[in-house]
Amino acid sequence: MLPPVRCFTCGAPLGHLWEEFQRRVRAGEDPSKVLDDLGVYRYCCRRTLFTSVTYIEEMAMYHVIRMRAARQMQGETLGGGVE
Ligand SMILES: [Zn+2]
Repeated sequence: MLPPVRCFTCGAPLGHLWEEFQRRVRAGEDPSKVLDDLGVYRYCCRRTLFTSVTYIEEMAMYHVIRMRAARQMQGETLGGGVE
């Protein structure tokens, strides 16, 4: 969900590498070469950076939709139903 702060296996700090890794890979560079350039050689750390997916923005969108639906349902419950 969030960018990894540390390697999940060995605990090496990785958070400071996340933005550059993402930017360069999105620009079309080979992820393996980017990891080599960043000095990430352990396979556990490479896996952590390579397989992390950030979807906090998508989750935030669903939270907004869910809150709107909850408000609508609450309004329906309070506004109508008793006749
Ligand atoms: Zn590691």
